Amino acid sequence: MIMNSIRYVDQMNIDGKRILLRVDLNVPLKDGTVADDSRILAILPTVQYILENGGMPIICSHLDRPGGKRVPELSLKPVSERLSQLLGEKVVFVDEVIGPNVENVTSTMKQGSIVLLENLRFELGEENNDESFSRSLASLADAYVDDAFANAHRSHASNVGVTKYINDVGGGFLMRKELEALGGVLESPDRPLVVAIGGAKVSSKIDVIEHISQVADRLLLGGAMAFPFLRALGIDVGDHRADGEAAKKARQMLDERPDTLILPEDFAIDDHGRREVDVKNLPSNGNVLDIGSRTIDRFASELNTAGTIVWNGPMGKFEQEGFETGTRAVAEAIAQSSAYSLVGGGDTNAALERYSLMEQISYVSTGGGAFLQMLSGRGLPAVRALSIETIKA
Ligand code: ADP
Ligand code: MG
Repeated sequence: MIMNSIRYVDQMNIDGKRILLRVDLNVPLKDGTVADDSRILAILPTVQYILENGGMPIICSHLDRPGGKRVPELSLKPVSERLSQLLGEKVVFVDEVIGPNVENVTSTMKQGSIVLLENLRFELGEENNDESFSRSLASLADAYVDDAFANAHRSHASNVGVTKYINDVGGGFLMRKELEALGGVLESPDRPLVVAIGGAKVSSKIDVIEHISQVADRLLLGGAMAFPFLRALGIDVGDHRADGEAAKKARQMLDERPDTLILPEDFAIDDHGRREVDVKNLPSNGNVLDIGSRTIDRFASELNTAGTIVWNGPMGKFEQEGFETGTRAVAEAIAQSSAYSLVGGGDTNAALERYSLMEQISYVSTGGGAFLQMLSGRGLPAVRALSIETIKA
């Protein structure tokens, strides 16, 4: 049988080598400093392992969505400072991603030195998985380690393209932890399996939702994720995230699995503060920012009876005062449930953190889209890119 398996950093020979280390340092910034450092903490074991074993890490990450150009507010400079503090080591920050300056700094590294490159997404080639950009990244190092689980559902230059031009590739410890924890957990979950999905990244998550709806007993839809489903039912909230493509897929899911999908019955809109309205009376240009009270009760009672729970995506714009109710109530219902609970996503985890509920979740993943895709059993392109085919008897 041919199996795809991946190697990890502790199975690689890294002594004296420059290691291009792709991580996810997409942290929230506030007033030019790091507002939450959990993603930095999550990659420390891999960085430390590389240093202790004589490797020279050239660390790279994206931050937010600068769209292929330099956006000074989205520089990784503040992240570099926090990383340095947490490691207790000097981190050399280069304010470019490729080019002669980067080549200079990386080619003169010595054992013990650490380099962090600027935001990968300042370069158009990153999200386009551009070949020459991938080659340039690869040329900086002798080996490549990917520890960016949360980005593994994307096919970008720094996690897919680059692996074609470096022979020696493997995963980091965070990647291993996530793949081991999430692989196969939904093969035979305790039923009912209740999945709650919200958040804002509608177009990038709709396909994965389609997949998950086939294994879930109940699929609760909140946040902006409900918009394409509403549009499919003829209710247009005037939000660009409910684009025609997403609404078409939503329509299909509603037709195929009407008993699985549970949509909000009411919402909270911003009308000089929180005002709840029935779904039938939603104004077409209303600013829909949370699920309403009846929906909260319905979602909570579904979560109460679950055998297994999966949650990604806030139920509303919980960062805004008055619109945290739905997200907080869902988080609390999951925390109180005796079901096995899997929660993931940058913003979702920030909500758990804010309401001090982290400890009451069975497994918290650093991934959002990647977490859902892994659970849906579709595999991840960045993990496939690391795979070595091995023949097993
Ligand atoms: P995660 O990071 O957990 O994967 P997403 O990035 O998909 O989640 O979505 C999180 C964001 O979605 C939050 O910043 C939240 O404010 C926003 N959001 C959720 N519901 C709404 C809504 N109804 N309107 C506007 N923004 C929303
Ligand atoms: Mg997010």
